[in-house]
Amino acid sequence: MRIAVCPGSFDPVTNGHLDIFERASNMYDLLIVAVFHNPNKKPMFTMEERVELLTSSTQHISNIKIDSFSGLLNDYVRQQNTNIIVRGLRALSDFEYEFQRALLIKKVDPVIETVFMMTSSEYSFLSSSGIKELAKFGGKIKGLVPECVEARIKERMKASEY
Ligand code: ADP
Repeated sequence: MRIAVCPGSFDPVTNGHLDIFERASNMYDLLIVAVFHNPNKKPMFTMEERVELLTSSTQHISNIKIDSFSGLLNDYVRQQNTNIIVRGLRALSDFEYEFQRALLIKKVDPVIETVFMMTSSEYSFLSSSGIKELAKFGGKIKGLVPECVEARIKERMKASEY
């Protein structure tokens, strides 16, 4: 069975992420989307909320599993009985970070392979941080994120928690 792990913060999941999941799930028997804690980013949503939003928005993909983890990615990937990580790539600015990360992971654990999927052009501008910024200033996020995410962000804005 070909298994791949797609790790990320997914704070929150966007239509750009969904596009990568849909395409990657056609290439593997099982795609495990794993929410992880990125210490460099201050999250808007808790891990539990991010898992919940990912679960609701991926109901149409039958061979996907949503999970969360903390700790070393290599260890997590091996625990899932695979050696494949899938990451999405947008502009050149993603490349530097992703390149370093993939090489570092490989240095620590040479068996692990990171596979990159190019974004679809209509999502190349889309990022979770862009969505949060847009929402914060009252911009329209319809069509950029799954409906459950849009609704959750609107609730947040009303409650002015963020
Ligand atoms: P991280 O904190 O690890 O960067 P993100 O949730 O921001 O997590 O992103 C997870 C993965 O999805 C990364 O590989 C990122 O490059 C990719 N990604 C994010 N937005 C898009 C998009 N619009 N198109 C393609 N890939 C994307």
